[in-house]
Amino acid sequence: MKINGIKENTIFIDGVWREAAGGKTEAVLNPATLEHIMSFSYGDEKDARLAVQAAKDALPLWSAKTARERSGYLYRAYQLMMERQEDLAVILTTEQGKPLAESRGEIASAASYLLWYAEEANRIYGEMIPSSNKGKRLFTIPQPIGVVAAITPWNFPSSMIARKLGPALAAGCTVVLKPAEQTPLSAVGLVKIFEEAGLPKGVLNLVTGDPASIGKAWLEEQDVRLITFTGSTEVGKHLMRSSADNVKKLSLELGGHAPILVFEDADIDQAVSLSLMSKFRNAGQTCICANRIYVQESIYNHFVKKLVEKVKQLKMGNGLETGIEIGPLIDNHALEKVQSHVQDAINKGASITAGGNRPSLSKNLKGFYYTPTVLTGITDEMLVMKEETFGPVVPIQSFTSEEEAIEKANLTSYGLASYVFTENINRAWRVMEQLEYGIIGINDVFPAAAEAPFGGIKQSGQGKEGGREGMMEYVEMKYISMGLK
Ligand code: ADP
Repeated sequence: MKINGIKENTIFIDGVWREAAGGKTEAVLNPATLEHIMSFSYGDEKDARLAVQAAKDALPLWSAKTARERSGYLYRAYQLMMERQEDLAVILTTEQGKPLAESRGEIASAASYLLWYAEEANRIYGEMIPSSNKGKRLFTIPQPIGVVAAITPWNFPSSMIARKLGPALAAGCTVVLKPAEQTPLSAVGLVKIFEEAGLPKGVLNLVTGDPASIGKAWLEEQDVRLITFTGSTEVGKHLMRSSADNVKKLSLELGGHAPILVFEDADIDQAVSLSLMSKFRNAGQTCICANRIYVQESIYNHFVKKLVEKVKQLKMGNGLETGIEIGPLIDNHALEKVQSHVQDAINKGASITAGGNRPSLSKNLKGFYYTPTVLTGITDEMLVMKEETFGPVVPIQSFTSEEEAIEKANLTSYGLASYVFTENINRAWRVMEQLEYGIIGINDVFPAAAEAPFGGIKQSGQGKEGGREGMMEYVEMKYISMGLK
């Protein structure tokens, strides 16, 4: 089967689409229907090493291009991506399950990283440093770090790639890319865009296939100087440990456990509708989406009632159909995790205020669906309060004071995103300065933007994506000390 021009060879090395060196293929499944969409090439270590060689060979020419030239390729890719927005969104929904409107939004967001870094390519500056010695001139020159290995997840299969490719290519790096095995087709669609934009061969290489074996090859290859990874904390830690031998640079966007704090001085309607969007978009499979909501005691009942009303109205189904607001989970593993978290909460005394089950099959929902769920009667020992559920389940707890809210919010080893609803500017400042998170939304739950530095602290990762800071991940600042006669 073909999907919008994508054929079955999904590995792209040195400008050529190939099958896996070992000849293996695997199926891509539609999580909404459980249908086999098509097969993709299941590469391994051999393909991974060939890709690094191609990227290494392409590096001198690519890094020697002027910033303006590199910017031109990115700008063209941005334009093509927006021209193909609908096709790419359909591919995304078909393999990932999110509603088509969300997929269109993701393609636009992905394209915005290409546009922003097309512009930023022209503004990678070094600096002159005033020397304490009259006979010397000190300065820094920015240079691309070299071959970059990008490993990306299935929850945002397009934008997570674009926000790595944008700055990497702008900085003059060449790239080997491995998308998640659940969503290889979005990556193929994106790489085809760059191919059409005329990117020189070897600058961007795609290896779909076996994570452990491709990952191992890239960890071992000396020429891979940076691994940029978005995914689970567990795999992030593995990459970090295994990078030690070659002292590779790592940029890691890992898991999160985002709290939402709703204070009694909040605009409650806004807090309810934004909490709903934060929690249930992408069926709760977003690293920055709300994992726990804390509501001040005096407004708790009112907030829960309003949220539950809205949750019960969410229209679940195949994301390709009109009006669908929530799709299936990505796979059976994800479904089992959600079910086990809800069961654990029930065992420990939680009440189900909405959802809490799988929809009936008679509704033609064959895929990995789970009904949007609200849990109350929550205690801190429950798994939903400690681990990422990564599904459409939201536990709500009440708090009495600001101090208690902050303490509860920080009660995690993660530090990616957190959210605060308040109309009191003094409170907003007090709280944001004490929250141990890399990203904080104040009366906002959509903080990601191409122009802003996105990244976690604590066990949520290191490094930034987006903004000027995002570019610097891919740049080596070389320091020059020049003696004058
Ligand atoms: P999730 O649990 O959300 O699927 P993962 O961290 O397993 O998150 O996946 C994120 C990305 O990391 C995917 O592209 C996946 O294939 C890749 N991955 C998984 N295991 C490894 C590994 N051992 N080495 C390198 N990449 C890996």
